[in-house]
Amino acid sequence: MSVAENLKDIRSGLHPGVELVAVSKFHPCEKLKEAYDAGQRIFGESRVQELCGKQSTLPDDIEWHFIGHLQTNKVKYIAPFISLIHAVDSLRLIEEIDRQARKCQRVIDCLLELHLAQEETKFGLTPEQCIRLLAEGKWREYGNVRICGLMCMASNTPHENIVRKEFEKAESLFNEIKRDFFNDAEYFCIKSWGMSHDYAIAQDCGSNMVRIGTAIFGEREY
Ligand SMILES: *Cc1c(COP(=O)(O)O)cnc(C)c1O
Repeated sequence: MSVAENLKDIRSGLHPGVELVAVSKFHPCEKLKEAYDAGQRIFGESRVQELCGKQSTLPDDIEWHFIGHLQTNKVKYIAPFISLIHAVDSLRLIEEIDRQARKCQRVIDCLLELHLAQEETKFGLTPEQCIRLLAEGKWREYGNVRICGLMCMASNTPHENIVRKEFEKAESLFNEIKRDFFNDAEYFCIKSWGMSHDYAIAQDCGSNMVRIGTAIFGEREY
């Protein structure tokens, strides 16, 4: 199936109000252009250099999302144009995004990355760490960063019940955080969970932004 057909298929299965981020990492610009020509405008990338190359080549009306782990020393390269940074997991990173955003006279939208999956990884905040970071309140001083919601990945497992539990946990944390730290602000509204193999479950569990790569573009060649 072509990229356009895949996109059509996926879109027809998305609940109303769910945004589709086309995860195009490791795929060449020609593939992205196929998706663009089929109407796709939001693309997700996870490596800074690759993203910057694509951004300078492809049309200006694309919304670029950074979905991978972002090193503080690379924030400056994407600050001028990035629409949303999905995986923010430290105050240090918030501080640097704020600094670079201010230089560009922008406010950059970000999501906090939760670590809920069983796999060991040094990235993402446990629910406890996430609540602590928010409760400490220092993040409120960074006026050029706007925290708009949460992002997470579920465990990579065939057991649907495990995946579902993790997404349900994300949904309940989102509601708690929105109420306790954002005074129910409307802009705190993004729930970024769900990938090619689990986005149907994610949508059942409140997701309103799915990040889909393989199901659109095929397998990546690393
Ligand atoms: C690569 C990636 C995706 C997309 O994964 P697929 O299985 O190809 O849909 C989604 N989210 C993040 C954070 C990723 O790194």
